[in-house]
Amino acid sequence: MSLARVATRSRNGLNATLIWVETHLSQGLPAIVMVGISESVVRDAKERVRSAIISSGFRWPDSRLTISFSPASALKTGASFDLPIAVSILLASKQLPDALAQGTEFYGELSLDGRVLTTTGLLAAGASEREKQVTIFTPKPNAMALAPFCSRVVGLRHLSELRTPDRLSESDFRECSPARTNGVATTYQLPAGQASLWRAAEIAAAGGHHLLMSGEPGAGKTMTAGLIRQLLPDPSDKEMLETQILFDIANKPCPSHRPFRSPHHSISLTGLVGGTRHATPGEISLAHHGILFLDELPEFSLATIEALRQPLEAGHIQITRAEQSHLYPAKFQLIAAMNPCPCGYRGSSETACRCSSSALTRYDAKLSGPLLDRIDMFIRVSRSKLSDVMAPQTTQYDRLERVRQSVLVARESQIVRQGQQNSLLPSSDVLDSCSLTGETKKWLESTGE
Ligand SMILES: [Zn+2]
Repeated sequence: MSLARVATRSRNGLNATLIWVETHLSQGLPAIVMVGISESVVRDAKERVRSAIISSGFRWPDSRLTISFSPASALKTGASFDLPIAVSILLASKQLPDALAQGTEFYGELSLDGRVLTTTGLLAAGASEREKQVTIFTPKPNAMALAPFCSRVVGLRHLSELRTPDRLSESDFRECSPARTNGVATTYQLPAGQASLWRAAEIAAAGGHHLLMSGEPGAGKTMTAGLIRQLLPDPSDKEMLETQILFDIANKPCPSHRPFRSPHHSISLTGLVGGTRHATPGEISLAHHGILFLDELPEFSLATIEALRQPLEAGHIQITRAEQSHLYPAKFQLIAAMNPCPCGYRGSSETACRCSSSALTRYDAKLSGPLLDRIDMFIRVSRSKLSDVMAPQTTQYDRLERVRQSVLVARESQIVRQGQQNSLLPSSDVLDSCSLTGETKKWLESTGE
Protein backbone atom coordinates (compact mmCIF):
# COMPACT_ATOMS: atom_id res chain seq x y z
CA MET A 1 0.00 0.00 0.00
CA SER A 2 1.43 3.38 -1.00
CA LEU A 3 0.42 7.00 -1.27
CA ALA A 4 1.81 9.96 -3.27
CA ARG A 5 0.77 13.59 -3.58
CA VAL A 6 1.63 15.96 -6.47
CA ALA A 7 0.79 19.66 -6.86
CA THR A 8 -0.67 21.29 -9.96
CA ARG A 9 -3.04 24.17 -10.67
CA SER A 10 -6.34 24.56 -12.47
CA ARG A 11 -7.16 27.78 -14.28
CA ASN A 12 -10.07 29.83 -13.03
CA GLY A 13 -10.46 32.94 -15.20
CA LEU A 14 -7.06 34.67 -15.12
CA ASN A 15 -6.08 32.96 -11.86
CA ALA A 16 -5.18 29.35 -11.10
CA THR A 17 -6.20 27.37 -8.01
CA LEU A 18 -3.74 24.98 -6.34
CA ILE A 19 -4.91 21.36 -6.85
CA TRP A 20 -3.44 18.27 -5.15
CA VAL A 21 -3.42 15.03 -7.13
CA GLU A 22 -3.21 12.09 -4.70
CA THR A 23 -2.71 8.49 -5.80
CA HIS A 24 -3.33 5.55 -3.49
CA LEU A 25 -2.24 2.04 -4.48
CA SER A 26 -4.05 -0.79 -2.71
CA GLN A 27 -4.47 -4.53 -3.06
CA GLY A 28 -7.34 -5.72 -5.16
CA LEU A 29 -8.24 -6.25 -8.78
CA PRO A 30 -6.29 -3.86 -11.10
CA ALA A 31 -8.50 -0.83 -11.70
CA ILE A 32 -8.28 2.96 -11.76
CA VAL A 33 -10.81 5.16 -9.97
CA MET A 34 -10.66 8.96 -10.10
CA VAL A 35 -12.60 11.11 -7.65
CA GLY A 36 -13.06 14.87 -7.32
CA ILE A 37 -12.92 15.59 -11.06
CA SER A 38 -15.50 15.69 -13.86
CA GLU A 39 -16.31 12.54 -15.81
CA SER A 40 -15.22 13.94 -19.20
CA VAL A 41 -11.71 14.83 -17.96
CA VAL A 42 -11.39 11.38 -16.30
CA ARG A 43 -12.47 9.55 -19.45
CA ASP A 44 -9.81 11.28 -21.56
CA ALA A 45 -6.98 11.20 -19.01
CA LYS A 46 -7.26 7.54 -17.96
CA GLU A 47 -6.29 6.08 -21.32
CA ARG A 48 -3.72 8.76 -22.24
CA VAL A 49 -1.82 8.41 -18.95
CA ARG A 50 -1.81 4.59 -19.02
CA SER A 51 -0.44 4.47 -22.59
CA ALA A 52 2.11 7.24 -21.91
CA ILE A 53 3.47 5.48 -18.78
CA ILE A 54 3.92 2.15 -20.59
CA SER A 55 5.38 3.82 -23.73
CA SER A 56 7.93 5.68 -21.60
CA GLY A 57 9.44 2.46 -20.26
CA PHE A 58 7.73 2.59 -16.86
CA ARG A 59 5.58 -0.17 -15.40
CA TRP A 60 1.79 0.16 -14.99
CA PRO A 61 1.06 -0.79 -11.34
CA ASP A 62 -0.62 -4.15 -10.97
CA SER A 63 -2.96 -2.96 -8.21
CA ARG A 64 -6.03 -0.87 -7.54
CA LEU A 65 -5.40 2.87 -8.12
CA THR A 66 -7.52 5.51 -6.44
CA ILE A 67 -6.69 9.04 -7.67
CA SER A 68 -8.19 11.98 -5.81
CA PHE A 69 -8.23 15.65 -6.80
CA SER A 70 -8.58 18.13 -3.96
CA PRO A 71 -10.10 20.48 -3.06
CA ALA A 72 -13.12 18.71 -4.53
CA SER A 73 -15.02 21.97 -4.88
CA ALA A 74 -12.41 23.62 -7.14
CA LEU A 75 -12.99 23.82 -10.87
CA LYS A 76 -10.86 21.24 -12.71
CA THR A 77 -10.77 21.27 -16.49
CA GLY A 78 -8.37 20.78 -19.36
CA ALA A 79 -5.69 18.30 -20.30
CA SER A 80 -2.88 19.76 -18.16
CA PHE A 81 -3.65 17.14 -15.45
CA ASP A 82 -2.12 14.29 -17.48
CA LEU A 83 1.45 14.91 -16.30
CA PRO A 84 0.63 15.34 -12.56
CA ILE A 85 -1.55 12.20 -12.69
CA ALA A 86 1.26 10.20 -14.32
CA VAL A 87 3.87 11.52 -11.85
CA SER A 88 1.67 10.71 -8.83
CA ILE A 89 1.17 7.13 -10.10
CA LEU A 90 4.93 6.71 -10.68
CA LEU A 91 5.70 8.13 -7.22
CA ALA A 92 3.14 5.90 -5.51
CA SER A 93 4.52 2.82 -7.28
CA LYS A 94 8.08 3.82 -6.23
CA GLN A 95 9.29 4.25 -9.81
CA LEU A 96 10.30 7.87 -9.15
CA PRO A 97 12.03 9.29 -6.04
CA ASP A 98 9.77 10.93 -3.41
CA ALA A 99 11.92 14.09 -3.56
CA LEU A 100 10.41 14.87 -6.98
CA ALA A 101 7.14 15.90 -5.27
CA GLN A 102 8.83 18.32 -2.84
CA GLY A 103 8.47 22.00 -3.83
CA THR A 104 7.31 21.19 -7.34
CA GLU A 105 4.25 21.65 -9.55
CA PHE A 106 3.52 19.67 -12.73
CA TYR A 107 1.58 20.72 -15.83
CA GLY A 108 1.11 19.20 -19.26
CA GLU A 109 -0.86 17.00 -21.59
CA LEU A 110 0.60 13.60 -22.55
CA SER A 111 0.46 11.88 -25.90
CA LEU A 112 0.00 8.11 -26.06
CA ASP A 113 3.73 7.65 -26.78
CA GLY A 114 4.73 9.65 -23.68
CA ARG A 115 5.53 13.01 -25.27
CA VAL A 116 4.69 16.04 -23.12
CA LEU A 117 2.55 18.23 -25.39
CA THR A 118 2.19 22.00 -25.53
CA THR A 119 -0.80 23.01 -23.43
CA THR A 120 -2.75 26.28 -23.68
CA GLY A 121 -3.63 28.40 -20.66
CA LEU A 122 -0.58 27.51 -18.54
CA LEU A 123 0.56 31.12 -18.18
CA ALA A 124 -2.21 31.76 -15.61
CA ALA A 125 -0.86 28.88 -13.51
CA GLY A 126 2.76 29.93 -13.93
CA ALA A 127 2.06 33.57 -13.02
CA SER A 128 0.07 32.68 -9.87
CA GLU A 129 1.30 34.19 -6.63
CA ARG A 130 3.01 31.69 -4.33
CA GLU A 131 4.14 31.87 -0.72
CA LYS A 132 7.39 30.04 -1.46
CA GLN A 133 9.47 29.28 -4.51
CA VAL A 134 8.61 26.13 -6.42
CA THR A 135 10.03 24.34 -9.45
CA ILE A 136 7.53 24.08 -12.26
CA PHE A 137 7.67 21.09 -14.63
CA THR A 138 5.98 22.02 -17.87
CA PRO A 139 6.00 21.09 -21.58
CA LYS A 140 9.23 22.35 -23.15
CA PRO A 141 7.50 24.78 -25.58
CA ASN A 142 5.54 26.33 -22.66
CA ALA A 143 8.68 26.76 -20.54
CA MET A 144 9.89 29.70 -22.62
CA ALA A 145 6.66 31.65 -22.02
CA LEU A 146 6.52 30.77 -18.31
CA ALA A 147 10.16 31.48 -17.45
CA PRO A 148 9.86 35.30 -17.04
CA PHE A 149 7.14 34.81 -14.39
CA CYS A 150 8.40 31.78 -12.44
CA SER A 151 11.52 31.46 -10.36
CA ARG A 152 12.39 27.96 -11.63
CA VAL A 153 11.06 26.17 -14.70
CA VAL A 154 11.98 22.75 -16.10
CA GLY A 155 10.84 22.06 -19.67
CA LEU A 156 9.99 18.42 -20.48
CA ARG A 157 9.77 16.88 -23.93
CA HIS A 158 9.02 13.31 -22.87
CA LEU A 159 7.77 11.59 -19.72
CA SER A 160 10.80 9.25 -19.83
CA GLU A 161 13.08 12.25 -19.01
CA LEU A 162 11.85 11.90 -15.41
CA ARG A 163 13.66 8.54 -15.19
CA THR A 164 16.88 10.52 -14.74
CA PRO A 165 15.77 13.60 -12.76
CA ASP A 166 19.39 14.45 -11.90
CA ARG A 167 20.06 15.21 -15.53
CA LEU A 168 17.14 17.61 -15.80
CA SER A 169 18.37 21.14 -15.59
CA GLU A 170 16.45 24.24 -14.86
CA SER A 171 15.73 26.07 -18.09
CA ASP A 172 16.88 29.64 -18.26
CA PHE A 173 14.81 31.42 -20.83
CA ARG A 174 14.87 34.80 -19.19
CA GLU A 175 16.37 36.38 -22.29
CA CYS A 176 13.51 34.97 -24.33
CA SER A 177 10.83 36.86 -22.40
CA PRO A 178 8.06 38.23 -24.61
CA ALA A 179 9.23 41.35 -26.41
CA ARG A 180 7.98 44.66 -25.05
CA THR A 181 8.11 47.70 -27.27
CA ASN A 182 7.71 51.29 -26.24
CA GLY A 183 4.92 52.84 -28.26
CA VAL A 184 3.30 51.49 -31.41
CA ALA A 185 5.31 51.56 -34.61
CA THR A 186 4.31 54.77 -36.39
CA THR A 187 3.78 53.16 -39.76
CA TYR A 188 0.01 53.59 -39.75
CA GLN A 189 -1.46 56.20 -42.03
CA LEU A 190 -2.73 59.22 -40.15
CA PRO A 191 -5.82 61.29 -41.00
CA ALA A 192 -4.76 64.36 -42.99
CA GLY A 193 -6.00 67.76 -41.79
CA GLN A 194 -9.17 66.94 -39.85
CA ALA A 195 -8.49 69.14 -36.82
CA SER A 196 -11.73 68.14 -35.07
CA LEU A 197 -11.02 64.45 -35.62
CA TRP A 198 -7.54 64.78 -34.12
CA ARG A 199 -8.96 66.69 -31.17
CA ALA A 200 -11.59 63.96 -30.59
CA ALA A 201 -8.87 61.29 -30.76
CA GLU A 202 -6.76 63.25 -28.27
CA ILE A 203 -9.63 63.59 -25.77
CA ALA A 204 -10.69 59.95 -26.20
CA ALA A 205 -7.12 58.69 -25.68
CA ALA A 206 -6.50 60.98 -22.70
CA GLY A 207 -9.71 60.13 -20.83
CA GLY A 208 -10.21 56.54 -22.06
CA HIS A 209 -13.60 57.51 -23.51
CA HIS A 210 -15.68 55.35 -25.83
CA LEU A 211 -16.07 57.06 -29.21
CA LEU A 212 -18.51 56.68 -32.10
CA MET A 213 -17.56 58.27 -35.43
CA SER A 214 -20.08 58.76 -38.18
CA GLY A 215 -19.14 59.88 -41.67
CA GLU A 216 -19.08 59.10 -45.36
CA PRO A 217 -16.74 56.42 -46.74
CA GLY A 218 -13.11 57.57 -47.03
CA ALA A 219 -13.41 60.21 -44.30
CA GLY A 220 -10.62 58.60 -42.23
CA LYS A 221 -12.61 56.78 -39.52
CA THR A 222 -10.40 53.68 -39.57
CA MET A 223 -7.26 55.84 -39.59
CA THR A 224 -8.58 57.67 -36.51
CA ALA A 225 -8.95 54.35 -34.65
CA GLY A 226 -5.31 53.63 -35.53
CA LEU A 227 -4.39 57.15 -34.38
CA ILE A 228 -5.99 56.59 -30.94
CA ARG A 229 -4.06 53.34 -30.66
CA GLN A 230 -0.81 55.23 -31.21
CA LEU A 231 -1.77 57.89 -28.67
CA LEU A 232 -2.31 55.44 -25.79
CA PRO A 233 0.57 55.23 -23.28
CA ASP A 234 2.63 52.04 -22.88
CA PRO A 235 0.90 49.39 -20.73
CA SER A 236 2.12 48.78 -17.19
CA ASP A 237 3.75 45.43 -16.33
CA LYS A 238 0.53 44.26 -14.63
CA GLU A 239 -1.59 45.24 -17.65
CA MET A 240 0.85 43.49 -20.00
CA LEU A 241 0.78 40.31 -17.89
CA GLU A 242 -3.03 40.19 -18.01
CA THR A 243 -2.91 40.65 -21.79
CA GLN A 244 -0.38 37.83 -22.11
CA ILE A 245 -2.48 35.46 -19.97
CA LEU A 246 -5.65 36.19 -21.99
CA PHE A 247 -3.89 35.60 -25.33
CA ASP A 248 -2.31 32.42 -23.93
CA ILE A 249 -5.75 31.09 -22.95
CA ALA A 250 -7.09 31.97 -26.41
CA ASN A 251 -3.98 30.36 -27.98
CA LYS A 252 -3.20 33.46 -30.04
CA PRO A 253 0.11 35.34 -30.46
CA CYS A 254 0.37 38.08 -27.87
CA PRO A 255 0.80 41.70 -29.06
CA SER A 256 3.85 43.59 -27.82
CA HIS A 257 1.78 46.69 -26.95
CA ARG A 258 -1.80 47.38 -25.92
CA PRO A 259 -4.13 45.09 -27.88
CA PHE A 260 -6.10 46.47 -30.83
CA ARG A 261 -8.91 44.15 -31.88
CA SER A 262 -11.01 44.90 -34.94
CA PRO A 263 -13.39 41.98 -35.57
CA HIS A 264 -15.41 41.88 -38.80
CA HIS A 265 -19.12 42.71 -38.47
CA SER A 266 -20.02 39.09 -39.32
CA ILE A 267 -18.49 37.91 -35.99
CA SER A 268 -20.69 35.62 -33.89
CA LEU A 269 -21.87 36.40 -30.39
CA THR A 270 -19.50 33.73 -29.01
CA GLY A 271 -16.56 35.20 -30.94
CA LEU A 272 -17.22 38.66 -29.56
CA VAL A 273 -17.99 38.03 -25.89
CA GLY A 274 -16.36 34.60 -25.45
CA GLY A 275 -17.52 31.03 -25.10
CA THR A 276 -16.94 27.91 -27.19
CA ARG A 277 -16.92 24.52 -25.48
CA HIS A 278 -13.85 25.46 -23.47
CA ALA A 279 -15.21 28.85 -22.30
CA THR A 280 -12.38 30.79 -23.97
CA PRO A 281 -12.22 34.60 -23.90
CA GLY A 282 -13.77 36.56 -26.79
CA GLU A 283 -12.70 39.71 -28.61
CA ILE A 284 -13.92 42.01 -25.81
CA SER A 285 -11.56 40.28 -23.35
CA LEU A 286 -8.69 40.15 -25.84
CA ALA A 287 -9.13 43.93 -26.15
CA HIS A 288 -8.72 44.29 -22.33
CA HIS A 289 -6.45 47.32 -21.59
CA GLY A 290 -6.61 48.21 -25.29
CA ILE A 291 -9.01 49.13 -28.06
CA LEU A 292 -12.00 47.27 -29.51
CA PHE A 293 -12.61 48.82 -32.92
CA LEU A 294 -15.99 48.02 -34.46
CA ASP A 295 -16.15 49.33 -38.02
CA GLU A 296 -19.61 49.51 -39.64
CA LEU A 297 -21.26 49.23 -36.19
CA PRO A 298 -24.89 48.96 -37.44
CA GLU A 299 -23.89 45.97 -39.61
CA PHE A 300 -23.13 43.86 -36.52
CA SER A 301 -26.05 41.63 -35.51
CA LEU A 302 -28.39 43.09 -32.93
CA ALA A 303 -27.53 40.31 -30.45
CA THR A 304 -23.77 41.01 -30.62
CA ILE A 305 -24.21 44.77 -30.25
CA GLU A 306 -26.55 44.35 -27.27
CA ALA A 307 -24.12 41.89 -25.65
CA LEU A 308 -21.63 44.77 -25.35
CA ARG A 309 -23.82 46.65 -22.88
CA GLN A 310 -23.06 44.61 -19.76
CA PRO A 311 -19.23 44.40 -20.17
CA LEU A 312 -19.11 48.12 -21.06
CA GLU A 313 -20.76 48.80 -17.73
CA ALA A 314 -19.05 46.18 -15.55
CA GLY A 315 -15.60 45.83 -17.19
CA HIS A 316 -15.79 42.05 -17.07
CA ILE A 317 -17.81 39.12 -18.41
CA GLN A 318 -18.78 35.77 -16.91
CA ILE A 319 -18.57 32.92 -19.44
CA THR A 320 -20.43 29.81 -18.33
CA ARG A 321 -20.40 26.50 -20.18
CA ALA A 322 -21.45 22.97 -19.19
CA GLU A 323 -18.64 22.18 -16.75
CA GLN A 324 -16.82 25.46 -16.36
CA SER A 325 -17.44 29.09 -15.59
CA HIS A 326 -14.77 31.75 -15.98
CA LEU A 327 -14.75 35.44 -15.15
CA TYR A 328 -12.74 37.33 -17.76
CA PRO A 329 -11.83 41.02 -17.57
CA ALA A 330 -13.08 43.22 -20.43
CA LYS A 331 -11.97 46.80 -19.71
CA PHE A 332 -11.63 47.92 -23.29
CA GLN A 333 -12.02 51.26 -24.99
CA LEU A 334 -14.75 51.01 -27.61
CA ILE A 335 -14.00 52.91 -30.81
CA ALA A 336 -16.83 52.47 -33.29
CA ALA A 337 -17.42 53.80 -36.77
CA MET A 338 -20.49 53.92 -38.98
CA ASN A 339 -21.74 55.40 -42.20
CA PRO A 340 -24.52 57.96 -41.68
CA CYS A 341 -26.87 55.81 -43.79
CA PRO A 342 -26.78 52.59 -45.87
CA CYS A 343 -25.44 54.39 -48.98
CA GLY A 344 -23.04 56.44 -46.86
CA TYR A 345 -23.82 59.97 -48.10
CA ARG A 346 -26.57 61.31 -45.83
CA GLY A 347 -25.64 64.90 -45.02
CA SER A 348 -22.85 64.99 -47.62
CA SER A 349 -22.36 68.31 -49.39
CA GLU A 350 -20.94 66.60 -52.50
CA THR A 351 -22.97 63.42 -53.12
CA ALA A 352 -26.70 62.96 -52.77
CA CYS A 353 -28.07 60.25 -50.47
CA ARG A 354 -29.96 57.52 -52.35
CA CYS A 355 -31.63 55.90 -49.34
CA SER A 356 -35.41 55.74 -48.90
CA SER A 357 -36.91 57.17 -45.73
CA SER A 358 -37.90 53.65 -44.56
CA ALA A 359 -34.30 52.44 -45.09
CA LEU A 360 -33.05 55.39 -43.04
CA THR A 361 -35.50 54.60 -40.22
CA ARG A 362 -34.46 50.95 -40.17
CA TYR A 363 -30.78 51.94 -40.15
CA ASP A 364 -31.19 54.39 -37.27
CA ALA A 365 -33.10 51.81 -35.22
CA LYS A 366 -30.18 49.37 -35.29
CA LEU A 367 -28.38 51.15 -32.46
CA SER A 368 -30.31 50.99 -29.23
CA GLY A 369 -30.54 53.90 -26.78
CA PRO A 370 -28.98 51.92 -23.88
CA LEU A 371 -25.87 51.16 -25.98
CA LEU A 372 -25.54 54.74 -27.21
CA ASP A 373 -25.89 55.86 -23.58
CA ARG A 374 -22.66 54.04 -22.77
CA ILE A 375 -20.70 55.79 -25.54
CA ASP A 376 -19.15 59.01 -24.25
CA MET A 377 -18.25 60.86 -27.45
CA PHE A 378 -19.87 61.21 -30.88
CA ILE A 379 -18.30 62.93 -33.83
CA ARG A 380 -19.43 63.59 -37.40
CA VAL A 381 -16.58 63.20 -39.88
CA SER A 382 -16.24 64.59 -43.40
CA ARG A 383 -13.61 63.95 -46.04
CA SER A 384 -10.19 65.60 -45.81
CA LYS A 385 -9.41 68.53 -48.11
CA LEU A 386 -7.17 67.70 -51.08
CA SER A 387 -4.55 70.22 -49.92
CA ASP A 388 -4.34 68.42 -46.55
CA VAL A 389 -3.98 65.02 -48.22
CA MET A 390 -1.12 66.38 -50.37
CA ALA A 391 0.78 67.68 -47.30
CA PRO A 392 3.98 65.74 -46.44
CA GLN A 393 3.53 62.83 -44.00
CA THR A 394 6.48 64.01 -41.86
CA THR A 395 4.30 66.92 -40.67
CA GLN A 396 1.72 64.38 -39.56
CA TYR A 397 4.26 62.44 -37.49
CA ASP A 398 5.42 65.67 -35.75
CA ARG A 399 1.78 66.37 -34.99
CA LEU A 400 1.35 62.84 -33.64
CA GLU A 401 4.28 63.27 -31.26
CA ARG A 402 2.90 66.59 -29.94
CA VAL A 403 -0.56 65.12 -29.34
CA ARG A 404 0.93 62.01 -27.71
CA GLN A 405 2.81 64.19 -25.24
CA SER A 406 -0.34 66.15 -24.41
CA VAL A 407 -2.21 62.85 -23.84
CA LEU A 408 0.48 61.71 -21.38
CA VAL A 409 0.30 65.03 -19.50
CA ALA A 410 -3.52 64.87 -19.40
CA ARG A 411 -3.47 61.28 -18.11
CA GLU A 412 -1.04 62.19 -15.34
CA SER A 413 -3.09 65.20 -14.26
CA GLN A 414 -6.24 63.02 -14.10
CA ILE A 415 -4.45 60.59 -11.77
CA VAL A 416 -3.18 63.45 -9.57
CA ARG A 417 -6.63 65.10 -9.46
CA GLN A 418 -8.93 62.12 -8.89
CA GLY A 419 -6.77 58.98 -8.81
CA GLN A 420 -8.28 57.51 -11.98
CA GLN A 421 -9.01 58.20 -15.62
CA ASN A 422 -11.88 60.53 -16.50
CA SER A 423 -13.89 57.70 -18.09
CA LEU A 424 -13.86 55.75 -14.80
CA LEU A 425 -15.02 58.69 -12.71
CA PRO A 426 -18.51 58.07 -11.23
CA SER A 427 -21.01 60.67 -12.41
CA SER A 428 -21.57 61.73 -8.79
CA ASP A 429 -17.90 62.80 -8.59
CA VAL A 430 -17.78 64.63 -11.93
CA LEU A 431 -18.91 68.01 -10.55
CA ASP A 432 -16.47 67.73 -7.62
CA SER A 433 -13.58 67.19 -10.05
CA CYS A 434 -14.67 69.81 -12.61
CA SER A 435 -15.04 73.30 -11.20
CA LEU A 436 -17.27 75.15 -13.62
CA THR A 437 -17.14 78.93 -13.88
CA GLY A 438 -20.43 80.83 -14.22
CA GLU A 439 -20.08 81.25 -17.97
CA THR A 440 -19.10 77.62 -18.62
CA LYS A 441 -21.99 76.43 -16.47
CA LYS A 442 -24.42 78.55 -18.50
CA TRP A 443 -23.02 77.19 -21.78
CA LEU A 444 -23.29 73.61 -20.55
CA GLU A 445 -26.87 74.10 -19.40
CA SER A 446 -27.92 75.67 -22.71
CA THR A 447 -26.17 72.88 -24.68
CA GLY A 448 -27.78 70.19 -22.54
CA GLU A 449 -31.22 71.60 -23.13
ZN1 LIG B 1 -27.98 57.22 -47.93
